[in-house]
Amino acid sequence: MTGGVPLFRRLALLGIGLIGSSVARVARERGDIAAEIVVNARTQKTLDRVVQLGFADRVEIDPARAVDGADCVMLAAPVGAFADLASRIAPHLMAGAILTDVGSTKQSVIRDVGPLVPAGVHFVPAHPVAGTEYSGPDAGFTTLFQGRWTLLTPPPGTDPDAVEKVAELWRRCGSMIEIMEPAHHDRVLAIVSHLPHLIAFTICGTADDLEAQSKQEVLNFAASGFRDFTRIAASDPVMWRDIFLNNREALLEMLARFTEDAQAMARAVRWGDAGYIEDMVQRGRKIRRSLIELKQA
Ligand code: NAP
Repeated sequence: MTGGVPLFRRLALLGIGLIGSSVARVARERGDIAAEIVVNARTQKTLDRVVQLGFADRVEIDPARAVDGADCVMLAAPVGAFADLASRIAPHLMAGAILTDVGSTKQSVIRDVGPLVPAGVHFVPAHPVAGTEYSGPDAGFTTLFQGRWTLLTPPPGTDPDAVEKVAELWRRCGSMIEIMEPAHHDRVLAIVSHLPHLIAFTICGTADDLEAQSKQEVLNFAASGFRDFTRIAASDPVMWRDIFLNNREALLEMLARFTEDAQAMARAVRWGDAGYIEDMVQRGRKIRRSLIELKQA
């Protein structure tokens, strides 16, 4: 508990999985993010678990009731659920409230939620670039955002005070802040997150087919590289389905570039171009070293 003045009187979290429950845990521990934490989820089972875990002041199965009187509302469900959630809460948002989110895609959130935001409510889209392959209210932890970036993509004309309050919320969660254009955000995330996940899901499918068809011992010897892909591939299917479908263009563009580069590598392997292969491996090592130096590894 840090004991400072809370940024918000009432924070309503709509969705309480890995990300929402990590925010709730930090807010609970620090005490200076919100005086009151209200939690909404899709199922009563999740809300019962939230009550047991003890990081909410109140739980509400109806999102409209959850946002009642909240000066900060954070959408933390899969991005495909945002349009429906926003239409259900819009008439109940308090004048002057901040509506923010944690969705992994930003143009789609602005497209789906933006038009539903009532006049007098400040819409500040955000994306904490932090995560694990685990989901649900048990998965969250207070240090998840420590030293990680949170990207804010406020539409033009957004009240700067509202943007600053959302930035401060994330700073108090331990994040570093950057403001970004939503289209730029989606392209950057397509290469650093969405494409790697697509490759991981695909390679696991390929290996699974191979094991089934030819009885090759894929799983026994997984430690030779495959294992690292399986960690990423263990992520939540609904969340990733929604990300792929809501960042379609940028993801397909990055996949096309990757496919070209993979073909170039295949050609080098076929023709014995040792220099090309060595150069690509060197570039990979360099990127890994830079990540370690930036403390993002
Ligand atoms: P999660 O652990 O899978 O939890 C999802 C939460 O949303 C649950 O409370 C779930 O309620 C609720 N929910 C699911 N479908 C819903 C629907 N149709 N309508 C209303 N509520 C619904 O998810 P998460 O990993 O925290 O991800 C939440 C958001 O953060 C996503 O938009 C994701 O893109 C973004 N994000 C994720 C990561 C990551 O690495 N996980 C990182 C950064 C941002 P029930 O439990 O009752 O079903």
